[in-house]
Amino acid sequence: MTSDASVPERRAGRGAVPSVREDLTEVVPYGAPQLDVPVRLNTNETPLPPPATFLTELARRLGSLELNRYPDRDAVALRQALAGREGLAPEQVWAANGSNEVLLQLMQAYGGPGRSALLFRPGYSMYPELCRTTGTVAHTVALAADGRLTHDIVATDVAAVVAGHDPVIALLANPNNPTGALVDLDVVRALHDAVNGLLVVDEAYIEFAAPGASARALLEELPRLVVSRTFSKAFRLAGLRLGYLLAPEQVVEDLLRVRLPYHLDAITQLAGIVALEQEDAFLDHRQETADERDRLALGIAPLEGIEVLPSAANFLLLQAKRADLFDRLLERGVLVRDLSSAVGRPGTLRVTVGTPAENDAFLAALMAVLDARQE
Ligand SMILES: *Cc1c(COP(=O)(O)O)cnc(C)c1O
Repeated sequence: MTSDASVPERRAGRGAVPSVREDLTEVVPYGAPQLDVPVRLNTNETPLPPPATFLTELARRLGSLELNRYPDRDAVALRQALAGREGLAPEQVWAANGSNEVLLQLMQAYGGPGRSALLFRPGYSMYPELCRTTGTVAHTVALAADGRLTHDIVATDVAAVVAGHDPVIALLANPNNPTGALVDLDVVRALHDAVNGLLVVDEAYIEFAAPGASARALLEELPRLVVSRTFSKAFRLAGLRLGYLLAPEQVVEDLLRVRLPYHLDAITQLAGIVALEQEDAFLDHRQETADERDRLALGIAPLEGIEVLPSAANFLLLQAKRADLFDRLLERGVLVRDLSSAVGRPGTLRVTVGTPAENDAFLAALMAVLDARQE
């Protein structure tokens, strides 16, 4: 089918690397900029290191690992620890290198050519990427102006996508990224009942929300529900790369069909187990983080030319009138996330809650930039 003329010349000769797959030619590597600036508030990590007791205990137990041997392919001990915490069986739990890999495996197992996914906008920017790399068609439904999913949207826009395309999987971040909005479990239930496929509730930030906000409570009730979690945010272990899901046993069995053998290394498995043993110490910053988030929001709210959305997570979404705010903040050593194109509105920024000093630096830079405009 492909004529010789469509083969790029620089790749044509023998000995040249073959052309990348056609749908990837325009793709640029995904990821937030990693810049070496004083204040980095762009990827929603917790600014505090893991507890010191974690590193000493992990170091003590590393010696027991047989690193010349492959790791436990099914990460049984880690999954048992996670399952115990949730009151589930290990067969209902799966773990991988960050929840991004968990989500990729879900798309590899259930998505693919001829299949489609239901996404929401604004939403997590990795979801369209995962659809693309797995050849899954994405159908995107707009959320309400406050970033929330409502019963109305489920009954109209979601129902229309289901009627027209019957997506095999729906992905909803709750609290949502980048808005920080939290939806009630009765909306999650309505969404599950509206779709015929899997409903994946991505709870990357759930530890910041009120107890009882997690869709874990619906797992026994809703047969196509999957709850995904990560150690990267409230658990202060973004550098570890560990995520997991809670799901019907059938889903875990299906993921085993696509996972690479030994995908999760022995050190990560052990680190996850040790972290769970010290869960309270890992999560003891949550109130302080929420207080800092609310302090930031209160500091931003009265400023002219910028609006802040309510957030249940460790970040805030800002809508600024001026489109150059991201660059002006960066000039002052403050890196936030520019989500203007992702959200489809210039001046859309997401700021992660940092340490009190980082948050002060952000507020000072923001006020200086906004004041400079008014002069
Ligand atoms: C940060 C984030 C993740 C976490 O990804 P990891 O691969 O576990 O680091 C997943 N989903 C959402 C919505 C996120 O914001």
